[in-house]
Amino acid sequence: MQALETLVRDAQTLAAGGPLPLTADEAEVARQMQICNACRYCEGFCAVFPAMTRRLEFGKADVHYLANLCHSCGACLHACQYAPPHEFAVSVPTAMATVRAQTYADYAWPPGFGRLYQRNGLTLSLALAGGLSLFLALAVALNGSLAAPPAGGSFYSIFPHGLMVNLFAPVFLFVLLALGIGVTRFWRSGAPGPATTPAVAEAAKNALTLKYLDGGHGQGCNETDDRWTKERRAVHHAAFYGFMLCFASTSVATVYHYVFGWVAPYGWTSLPKLLGGTGGVLLVLGAVGLLRLRLKRHPQHVVAAQKPMDLGFVVLLGLTGASGLALALAAGTAAMPLLLCLHLGAVMAFFATMPYGKFAHGVYRSAALLKWSIERRLPTRLRLGSE
Ligand code: SF4
Ligand code: SF4
Repeated sequence: MQALETLVRDAQTLAAGGPLPLTADEAEVARQMQICNACRYCEGFCAVFPAMTRRLEFGKADVHYLANLCHSCGACLHACQYAPPHEFAVSVPTAMATVRAQTYADYAWPPGFGRLYQRNGLTLSLALAGGLSLFLALAVALNGSLAAPPAGGSFYSIFPHGLMVNLFAPVFLFVLLALGIGVTRFWRSGAPGPATTPAVAEAAKNALTLKYLDGGHGQGCNETDDRWTKERRAVHHAAFYGFMLCFASTSVATVYHYVFGWVAPYGWTSLPKLLGGTGGVLLVLGAVGLLRLRLKRHPQHVVAAQKPMDLGFVVLLGLTGASGLALALAAGTAAMPLLLCLHLGAVMAFFATMPYGKFAHGVYRSAALLKWSIERRLPTRLRLGSE
């Protein structure tokens, strides 16, 4: 109801030609940015600060952009002379993280689904329960049992190929649509101008290398205290590239199936198995590392209310990778049907919740990086700061 009232109020403000009012959390980011803009000690830490110096005021679109540009590395908090208990109470990572999660809900499509971010632990749990129930029920209905070894060691003898395509393809297309519309709405709020090839190349490099998890000095993030570590960058890379390798494995297997007529199961030295096996191991290592780091993060780097979303996402990610590896090892055994249900249920839950959980941060942050790569190539209107 509150979201609806906010929408109505914002629509009325827009119709009257006025700027959208800031929420309390957005106003807190704007307040801290005003202090940082006067201080500028952290100017070389990440893209947030040079982007900030191009502004004297921080409207809604500016705050959303800067919040998604922040990688939550913690460097500015640990360097800040105005951090709590100072009366200025500057804690940029916390303020940015609070608004960042709000932007995912604000730009979510369909709009009402943004609420799923607020109860994300429950959302992920229900999605996993639903995914598992669906595949367990289908396995029993199609095969009469969960204990019989599959004919020829093929999971297609448990779930026909066409059935899996019919179940996953609509979900995958919906995910693309929902994330695409959401990030387009974010882009249109304060679009800096047309994307040039150098800007796109730079933003892609910054996203793929996680440049802004280096703390600005190349030594890495702060996690629990003033020490720097590259661990978060490493486990993020493991999870991301593990996910991409698993995706590549499925894509190659699809080409094998439809183009060459080569039907699974594939041998251990086949491309789908090599890609999937390597991806699965990286995914599990990345998820375990992210989980460990999240549990010991400094409390002012994160927002306590977002803990279920953060933890639920990495647990689901790890479960997807681990169940895939277990399934490959159990091929042809009586454990295979149950493990297949677990893996497909986890994958279905992961895909179905991609637009309404932590996964969105990668999409919105990449868009913010592209905005920055475009903006930094434009002449500054203020002529202030070193950038
Ligand atoms: S975070 Fe603190 S030290 Fe850094 S620019 Fe802002 S006020 Fe200055
Ligand atoms: S937490 Fe790190 S990425 Fe975020 S504003 Fe501070 S220095 Fe930049």
